[in-house]
Amino acid sequence: MTSRWNGRGQDRTTVVMGAGPGGLATGYWLAKHGIDVTVLERAPVVGGLARTVERDGFRFDLGGHRWFSKVDEVNDFYKEVIADETIWVHRISRIYFDGKYIDYPLRIGNALAAIGPIKAAQAMADYARVRLAGRLQPRPIVSMEDAYVDQYGRTLYELFFERYSEKVWGRPCAEMSGDWVNQRTKGMSLLTAVKDAIIPSKGTVQSLIDSFMYPRYGYGRLSERMAEGVCAAGNEVRLNSGVSKVLRRGNHITGVVTTDAAGREETIEAAQFVSSIPLTLLCQIMEPAAPAEVIAASKALTFRNVITVNLMLDREKVTDDTWLYVHDRNILFGRLHEPKNWSVDMVPDQSKTSIVAEYFCSFGDAVWNMSDDELVEQTARHLSDDLGFISRNEVLGGFAVRCPRAYPSYTLGYEGPLNTLKSFIDSFDNLQIIGRYGTFRYNNADHSVETGLLAAKNILGESHDLDRVNADQEYHEIKRLKPAPVQLNGNGKHAANGHGENGHAVAAANLVTVAERDAAGVGE
Ligand SMILES: Cc1cc2nc3c(=O)[nH]c(=O)nc-3n(C[C@H](O)[C@H](O)[C@H](O)COP(=O)(O)OP(=O)(O)OC[C@H]3O[C@@H](n4cnc5c(N)ncnc54)[C@H](O)[C@@H]3O)c2cc1C
Repeated sequence: MTSRWNGRGQDRTTVVMGAGPGGLATGYWLAKHGIDVTVLERAPVVGGLARTVERDGFRFDLGGHRWFSKVDEVNDFYKEVIADETIWVHRISRIYFDGKYIDYPLRIGNALAAIGPIKAAQAMADYARVRLAGRLQPRPIVSMEDAYVDQYGRTLYELFFERYSEKVWGRPCAEMSGDWVNQRTKGMSLLTAVKDAIIPSKGTVQSLIDSFMYPRYGYGRLSERMAEGVCAAGNEVRLNSGVSKVLRRGNHITGVVTTDAAGREETIEAAQFVSSIPLTLLCQIMEPAAPAEVIAASKALTFRNVITVNLMLDREKVTDDTWLYVHDRNILFGRLHEPKNWSVDMVPDQSKTSIVAEYFCSFGDAVWNMSDDELVEQTARHLSDDLGFISRNEVLGGFAVRCPRAYPSYTLGYEGPLNTLKSFIDSFDNLQIIGRYGTFRYNNADHSVETGLLAAKNILGESHDLDRVNADQEYHEIKRLKPAPVQLNGNGKHAANGHGENGHAVAAANLVTVAERDAAGVGE
């Protein structure tokens, strides 16, 4: 769908809804170019899903957030904002399943070795069968299950993709759209990966996932520094200012109404409007109300919540991992990370560490209904009794952070309602939508920043189609570039290539990188 946005007039005064990475990127860029901009945020802090929470000197992201973008301008923007606070983090990630650990991204030799020769042979035979059937009698790919089985065969799907995906999405893969998988794995060939693991590839493909940039005091610093930039130019980031109404005259937005914590309302007018608040909510709070079919479509889209449980620990270290993906169904969280492995500045002193466990859940389900104390207790129990990582007496304290609507759910048939909402929004001449839930697209923070920057550039007179961001069918984490120099991470360790120095291991890692997001089930 091509954006029909054409709001380039004389008056460029802008209201931005939401102060996550997307909204703040718009605010920062406009402020830098001398435009009056007001960023409205419902929460008492900036950063949205990408904020960092501090407790007793420990710092916690809402699930570890690493910076990665394939777009040079977006990386340059990150560097401009974070400047001296950036560090490089060397990445080591694993999957825990059935009591075993497997390298992550999946590397074919390692994965097949872990499942044993019989299962490995079955997996390869299965895969060959699927490839052959695909050639002789191609069948449509509708669901997430179809897409995984088509690409990896049933054995590998059941081993590495099914359980985790169902943890993340809370429903069988047969009920989820294949779009999510297709978007991330198009072009993936297991055979090529196997071949590449045996015969070294030539060329200059480098994976950007072996190490990544990160703000040393937590990812939330990106948003905090953008907010500082907005304010330094004399503009406002208004906290505790939830947008409760969006006022329109036909297909023109005239203003928004904010409601503060005490219930006081205020109307703010502007010439241009950029929204990163949930697309469904945006359509529901229009005044006069959006057409009935738009309201109905907004209620048909669903999402998944995340609760992060943060434990502060009286021990030096728990794991070497950047992330650990936990597939086992008896362990309720899906992923954990140890912030100190990302940056030593995430703990108050180096004799301590911490763990963040991510629980994927929905309103009203058993996990969402657990109290914060129960979640802390449950997490400590899993870490000590099930994983053997800690002793219970090392837990200094813990707390939970609830993130409603963290993942737009691509359930079967989601495209219809989504297109209805986007057509409605597209009809406005001075409204742009950006970000993750703002566009109901599975955007990472860099995509949110990119859409935010492009929205600002449109207001400045350029012409960009925001729908094209994160819409290419190519995998995101591979980029051709010159060999990267050796970098240091926050721990002062050398971040040489984590997948070995030899070319074939690097290339194989690149190829199987496409399997990574699948195995994770999430794009982060
Ligand atoms: C567990 C987890 C791990 C992740 N890891 C990574 C990672 O490693 N790398 C990466 O790039 N991305 C990662 N992401 C994704 C990243 O968090 C999001 O892409 C990014 O935060 C989206 O930014 P945004 O500005 O679009 O939206 P948000 O961050 O959701 O910000 C939207 C803002 O709008 C505000 N808002 C909502 N309603 C209103 C209203 N009515 N009025 C005013 N304000 C309102 C919200 O409070 C929020 O601050 C991860 C996400 C999760 C959940």
